[in-house]
Amino acid sequence: MTIRKIQKIIQGQPASDGAGVKLIRSLGSANHLRLDPFLMLDAFSSENPEDYVAGFPAHPHRGFETVTYLLEGHMLHEDHLGNKGNLKSGGVQWMTAGRGIIHSEMPQQENGRMRGFQLWINLPAKEKMKPAGYRDIQPNEIPAVSLPAGTMKIVAGTYEGTQGPVQGGSTAPLYWDVQLESAKTFAAKIPATHSAYVYPFEGGVEVGDRVLKTHQGGVLGAGDRIEVKAGAGGARFLVLAAKPLNEPVVQYGPFVMNTREEIEQAIRDYQNGALAV
Ligand code: MN
Repeated sequence: MTIRKIQKIIQGQPASDGAGVKLIRSLGSANHLRLDPFLMLDAFSSENPEDYVAGFPAHPHRGFETVTYLLEGHMLHEDHLGNKGNLKSGGVQWMTAGRGIIHSEMPQQENGRMRGFQLWINLPAKEKMKPAGYRDIQPNEIPAVSLPAGTMKIVAGTYEGTQGPVQGGSTAPLYWDVQLESAKTFAAKIPATHSAYVYPFEGGVEVGDRVLKTHQGGVLGAGDRIEVKAGAGGARFLVLAAKPLNEPVVQYGPFVMNTREEIEQAIRDYQNGALAV
């Protein structure tokens, strides 16, 4: 058994996306700051509607998956095919863009706190052009597990026999939300085949002899087990892990393909109304 150590720390950067939504981007804040197969991780949290209410009006995606996990607030999703969903506090929308989707993601409240994450997970070459699909995962479908000194939610993957609603797929992702009391340790097996990332969003944590402050993500090195200790005052953090694809990544904004030609095709398809059919 090998405990994974921190290989690299990625400082979350303030950013703005969509029609001016303020967020903190860690993975994906630069091209060399991806963690195969994860392309991007955005955290948003604000009590000020001006930071989020303009939302993400109609925009395209091709070639990957977007996973939106809402901790607080409501978000309405609509796409060009007429699909519609209202993402509630504690729920997840797992969207497979595949060959293409044009959608909007709009916060549905004008007051109060909006808090959550959007993670982009790459698709393998053979699945990039598959039809778009969704899973709207309700809060009660996400198991909460009591830990000796905390609690966790399992969005994807399995922890000690408890299965999250999303299982398997080409990258077999784990997506856990862990809350720990002060100075307590969370330990878990994570397959040695997987890339792994720890992202504290309340408080800070220690992994081995390294400290991650709030919004500092830790890319973990080789091993099959993680141990994450909460700092003084406790901590809440995401544990993300998945099987790397080891394929070339060419990204142009919301299109993520394997070659430049495929990106040019995606742009042409979008301009010609053939992105998503
Ligand atoms: Mn989107």
